[in-house]
Amino acid sequence: MPKFIFVTGGVLSGIGKGHTTASIAKLLQFRGYEIDLVKVDPYLNVDPGTLNPIEHGEPFITDQIYQFNPAPSFEYTTAEVDQDFGTYERFIGRTIHPRNNITSGQVYLSVILQERLGKFLGKTVQIIPHITDEIKQRFLEIAKAGEKKGNGLDVIIVEVGGTVGDIEAAPFLEAIRQFRLEKGRCDTLLVHVTLVPLLDTVGELKTKPTQHSVKQLLSLGLQPDIIIARSQVSLTKEASQKIALHSNVASEAVISNPDLKEIYELPLKFYEQGLDAIILQRLEMTARPPSGMEAWREVVNSFINTTFNLRIAMPGKYVQMADTYVSINEALRHAGAHLGANVSIEMVDSEKLERVDDAKERLLQYDGILLTPGFGTRGTEGMIRAAWIAIEEDLPFLGICFGAQLLFVALCRYALGMKNANSTELDSKTPYPVVDLLPEQREIEEKGGTMRLAGHSIKIMPKTKLQAIYKKAKIRERFRHRYHLMWDPARAAEKEGLVVSATDMSGKIINAIELKNRYWMIGTQFHPEYTSRPDLPNPVYLAFTKAMLGRKIKD
Ligand code: GLN
Repeated sequence: MPKFIFVTGGVLSGIGKGHTTASIAKLLQFRGYEIDLVKVDPYLNVDPGTLNPIEHGEPFITDQIYQFNPAPSFEYTTAEVDQDFGTYERFIGRTIHPRNNITSGQVYLSVILQERLGKFLGKTVQIIPHITDEIKQRFLEIAKAGEKKGNGLDVIIVEVGGTVGDIEAAPFLEAIRQFRLEKGRCDTLLVHVTLVPLLDTVGELKTKPTQHSVKQLLSLGLQPDIIIARSQVSLTKEASQKIALHSNVASEAVISNPDLKEIYELPLKFYEQGLDAIILQRLEMTARPPSGMEAWREVVNSFINTTFNLRIAMPGKYVQMADTYVSINEALRHAGAHLGANVSIEMVDSEKLERVDDAKERLLQYDGILLTPGFGTRGTEGMIRAAWIAIEEDLPFLGICFGAQLLFVALCRYALGMKNANSTELDSKTPYPVVDLLPEQREIEEKGGTMRLAGHSIKIMPKTKLQAIYKKAKIRERFRHRYHLMWDPARAAEKEGLVVSATDMSGKIINAIELKNRYWMIGTQFHPEYTSRPDLPNPVYLAFTKAMLGRKIKD
């Protein structure tokens, strides 16, 4: 049975608990252990696929599919998980199964459906023990699934979303309390991540919010073993001793998580403070010598020491929140770092692009354009306009999913003269429906988990740019869509230089397009960003960044 590390948060949400969790995983991986990561999300949505990206950021799409079958009457699949899974996969460099994202929605649904089936006959169904039992059961299922894999699992790290004290998180914390009690003393560990603000006026680190948050945790019967303090600067000795005293933990188990130039450095920052040694000692695991750390340090340095600067415009409707396109931002950063370039991504409000006279001048300032994934009509005319400007001005251009669909719409409208051509998602009465629902989507009305999701095999056509990029005839990337490009207009667009460069394995669904008479212009129906890693950039992002850089250096 693997050991369990639970990671809770206090004081505030959004202080980087996901990065902390991923960094702990990375440290244990350096020590040669097999790790799996779990995220508990206390909201009632069954999965985050239906959440507005402005509230929670984009969901992450996993390679595999989770078949959730709490009762014969409810079958449901998902590959849409919390965006922290993107952080996890980027840090540990491997795929994680979507069953590892446990939401309150899934837990309650499961218990209520089982009640209807008569599983608890005669009993009052309650949060304790029924909901908490279901949560513990889910932890054990993940442990069991891990045992079957290769060398088996050594440690499962469970991050609890939200902060201690949230009403909806209470059943999860109670389940963790019971779980710790049922397991041996050295089988579980609790890490609490808090914020230690620096008061500018006095230049002092304030530990009181942490003290309060630990008190709250203690009142739930949970004693933290390790405190990780998020702060602008590293903790002073005085501050960490104070936290240790009030939290009933050893002072070496109070770890700083200061602002860093580069977030991928966090595991190394923790290593300097002996975090992995403390974890291994508490869990009574052998402290194997770390390996792979130097290579990781080099990767981190490549992010810090860049020579070039690239500016990329991302026209879209979500300009308010950085997390909306976090996987794309990271994929561009990975590619940039690999090539010695710092990539700055600028969100361009596509609703504004629709109205302004100088849209072309605005876009010409950038080294390239990335047209984002998306749903719904708002701001799409501006995105189509941006795609057409890119075609006319021959700007390096990458369109992802929706972005590829809108590139195709622009080409059909302005190069092939199909007036008001559109995707039926945006205009159901368009005279030229050049992007339309996937055949299997026509019957579907429910919105949760019903898109074409997860990893699929892709066939790449010979002698295309995409083939030169991947150097393979068959690849696997991840998808999240209901609509696809139509073949007839795609064939008609061949005379304008359009090449269908990839399809699904049946040859029916267009998976990528490119313009052979342009410098670098590709649209992918798949999302290459989900497989990009800091030490292994995705080939499409790498080629796009290289193209932008190539042109810039030549100029
Ligand atoms: N809305 C489009 C579709 O469903 C694009 C989705 C996306 O960009 N992920 O096909």
